[in-house]
Amino acid sequence: MIDDVLPGGGFLVANVPIGKIFSREHFSDTQKEFADVTTKFMQNEVIPKAEALEDKPLEGDLPVMVSLLREVGELGLLSVDLPEEHDGLGQDKSTASIIAEHLFGCPSFATTVGAHAGIGTLPISFFGTEEQKARWLPKLGTAELVSCYALTEPGAGSDALSGRTTAIAKEDGKHFLISGEKQFITNGAWADIAIVFAQVEGKYTAFIVELDSKGVSRGLEEKKMGIKGSSTTSLVFDEVEVPVENMLGKPGMAPQIALNILNLGRLKLGFGALGNCKYAIDLSLEYASTRKQFGQPIAYFDLQKGRLADMIANTFALDALAYRLSGDIDAALANLEKDDSYAKRTIDTFRAYALECAIVKVVGAETLQKLLNDGIRLHGGYGFLNEYKLEMLARDNVIDSIYEGTNDINRLTIFDGLARNILGGGFPFRQFMETIDADLRNGRICRLSAEGPLAAPIADCMAAKRVVAYTVNQALIQCGKGIKTEQQVMELVADMLIAVSKMDSTVARAQEIIGGKDAQRNSAAMAIADYVCRRGAQTITTNALDVLDSVVPQGQRKINQANLATLIGCLDRTVDIVRVRRIIADAAIEAGAYQF
Ligand SMILES: Cc1cc2nc3c(=O)[nH]c(=O)nc-3n(C[C@H](O)[C@H](O)[C@H](O)COP(=O)(O)OP(=O)(O)OC[C@H]3O[C@@H](n4cnc5c(N)ncnc54)[C@H](O)[C@@H]3O)c2cc1C
Repeated sequence: MIDDVLPGGGFLVANVPIGKIFSREHFSDTQKEFADVTTKFMQNEVIPKAEALEDKPLEGDLPVMVSLLREVGELGLLSVDLPEEHDGLGQDKSTASIIAEHLFGCPSFATTVGAHAGIGTLPISFFGTEEQKARWLPKLGTAELVSCYALTEPGAGSDALSGRTTAIAKEDGKHFLISGEKQFITNGAWADIAIVFAQVEGKYTAFIVELDSKGVSRGLEEKKMGIKGSSTTSLVFDEVEVPVENMLGKPGMAPQIALNILNLGRLKLGFGALGNCKYAIDLSLEYASTRKQFGQPIAYFDLQKGRLADMIANTFALDALAYRLSGDIDAALANLEKDDSYAKRTIDTFRAYALECAIVKVVGAETLQKLLNDGIRLHGGYGFLNEYKLEMLARDNVIDSIYEGTNDINRLTIFDGLARNILGGGFPFRQFMETIDADLRNGRICRLSAEGPLAAPIADCMAAKRVVAYTVNQALIQCGKGIKTEQQVMELVADMLIAVSKMDSTVARAQEIIGGKDAQRNSAAMAIADYVCRRGAQTITTNALDVLDSVVPQGQRKINQANLATLIGCLDRTVDIVRVRRIIADAAIEAGAYQF
């Protein structure tokens, strides 16, 4: 195992990054201030209006949502990661992520912000010419102009680059005529500009299109299950005249622009989910501590403690995973020289972390989904009522598994990224496998020993990495090129990798906490590490067996199953999960809030 964690799944062959991850324990004063400002804005201005926003109210002619967007723009929260020379605050990705986390409590608003300041603005920030940046970024940073991102079409959803919208060069040499239909566009009703993707002689290309141009029409608001306060419409372009200087990047650069911007969108989606997880835990803890049945607060019932512990431990893992990634991306960006190719190399950095961004997206969406389900059950009948807030969050959360690439597509991205880096030597997988194979041959495989209070979870992580590596190696060897059609195997492997990354990040973050003065908090952090490792080990064990049974031919099964059993044996340790969950829940009940 190596110490350096390379992007694209390199954590699989690296030591647990003890002392090497960014986490909220390392927030600067400026970052804490951004967290406070965002939280206060949400609590004072947005959450009280969250229910009313579902009806898309107007303030005069202006949608209230747009006026909130401008207010948040005045606070600098929309321009935090835009360059200073274009009136941005020039902060790093972790600071932008902190803001995304603290936009909790109203996913309709967070979606509006994300479509505008993220996928609607960053393509210009990264791929725009100096003239384009100077013209658009200052006004987007304040939301004087609202943006949207128009990629999806009726026939091009997950297959996002297959769009049929066209941009035909006009004879005057100064304009393109754009025609086509975009579907499901967030901010569609009120955006002033759109990043539109269109085919230029078969090359998919991005344009900045002003939506008050002749030939643009907006469809009716879609009637949705959730994020009802956000706008979702189609946009129809009928020979819309767009100046050539509004082309973003070069012809054919749409894949680069569209997919790399989605990586950032996925990261921010994970952070948005994290903020809502904590918000929902606090609501649930408050409710469980005040609601009495059978003469005591329901929080004291063992079954509810287990439920609260699940919510807390999985949120801790998401937190550790997400900030570790934003910190790794910032560290990689900090090494880049700010010369002419800075923007390109920045984008290359996001591409390198595509696998990790997909993990954060999937874990964010699904952690919040399970947590809200548990939170509603904990609330009993009241959880079903709009007034208790979880109902809206649960409806709103459904979209998290659909947009920014469905979770299915993200799982395929995780597997694809891993396979590519294994086969292309992106990280030293071969060397890692050689050690595992040699140890198996020599009968030297045993549970690795580690030191310190987290020795057991650290050993779990190391054992888990060997099981995952062995399994994915078998899948690649046995299936060869045919792996492309083995999507169920790919999904099983992706879930194993997700489990390992949760374990690894959780243990590293727990280590940051356990030296603190609060003994109960320390014990809870250690219990969380045990919990996440136990659950991770269970997923990894089950999935490894399923993969091997599927990919290994009958004749070779015995030896492979024996090898896997040996590796799994090192992952197996006794954890009293019932006791662990009580420790986690008791600490939270005592603290009265999520405390990590
Ligand atoms: C509220 C809302 C807001 C949105 N905002 C925007 C926006 O601002 N801009 C924008 O451009 N788009 C936006 N979208 C579109 C969104 O990104 C797409 O809906 C999403 O990418 C899925 O595409 P689709 O709906 O066509 O589903 P499909 O691609 O038809 O997928 C249907 C099912 O098939 C599965 N599937 C598809 N391909 C594969 C495959 N290769 N292997 C296995 N399974 C597969 C999917 O996982 C899914 O389960 C939004 C959508 C919604 C609902």
